[in-house]
Amino acid sequence: MGDTVTGGCLCGAVRYQVRLPVLNAGYCHCRMCQRAAGAPAVAWLTVPRTAFAFTRGDPAVFRSSPRGLRRFCGVCGTPLTFEFPEDMPPDTPGLHDIDVTVASLDTPEAVPPDHHSWTSSRIAWFDTVDRLPRHTHDYPG
Ligand SMILES: [Zn+2]
Ligand SMILES: [Zn+2]
Repeated sequence: MGDTVTGGCLCGAVRYQVRLPVLNAGYCHCRMCQRAAGAPAVAWLTVPRTAFAFTRGDPAVFRSSPRGLRRFCGVCGTPLTFEFPEDMPPDTPGLHDIDVTVASLDTPEAVPPDHHSWTSSRIAWFDTVDRLPRHTHDYPG
């Protein structure tokens, strides 16, 4: 089995653990991530749901679209996870995975991004200096 990394929100009310390795990790430039985080892009890691667990607190949840549940600390607001709702079709790719905000890890350096997604919504003044694959829409779209 892989190593386990831990993370949590700014105030400490919500903590979680993730068993490595990740399936992938990447920057999302979509408008919903930008608004949800109040940031120009969000770095997410993706693991099977069975590799993720909250270990302290009970995060708040917001259904940001028909395809998305976002969990965050209800006290301090830190965005923590993204997953598909249970009512998605059972053949939905990634239905059994969960995305976790890389920057909320205790050791974000442990999980470097390997791609960009939704660059069609990238804010013109924001970019990163890398040669990672760039997808105009969803990963790996
Ligand atoms: Zn918090
Ligand atoms: Zn996004």
